[in-house]
Amino acid sequence: MSVMIDLTGQTFNRLTVIERGGTSKNGNALWRCQCSCGNQTVVDSYALRHGKIRSCGCLSRELSAVNIRKNPKTLASMGHTSNFQIHDHHTDIPSQVLSKRNKSGVIGVSWDKNAQRWVAHFYYKGVYLLNKQYIHFEDAVAARRAIERQYLKQQPVLSE
Ligand SMILES: [Zn+2]
Repeated sequence: MSVMIDLTGQTFNRLTVIERGGTSKNGNALWRCQCSCGNQTVVDSYALRHGKIRSCGCLSRELSAVNIRKNPKTLASMGHTSNFQIHDHHTDIPSQVLSKRNKSGVIGVSWDKNAQRWVAHFYYKGVYLLNKQYIHFEDAVAARRAIERQYLKQQPVLSE
């Protein structure tokens, strides 16, 4: 393990570090952060210090909301995605083909047992464009949907 850098009290864009939040799988320190929007999130120290994660997810949601407004086609298809009924950390989306490994019921969203967080991920052309933790399942799903709309511009992908 590398030397731990104490980030407590430091602010990175919208996130202010509250306390240590464990250790990620790759050995990086995790930090519990307070986002300026009121949410809390746990972020990898590397991502935090390098500006890869700048909010609880609200920042990218706002940005993607702007992109969506600019794109009437996406706006039209939004009706479909928002039809998904998400009930308090459970979901009933039977219409998609789901990976067997995926316990969340939503492609690109999985539960990280170590971090005790939902993780939204999106792998595109060999790059992880999204790999973020969320307290709320709904937020993780929203993040994944947003990036799907951004990169796929169509229906959600059916396999990882
Ligand atoms: Zn936020």
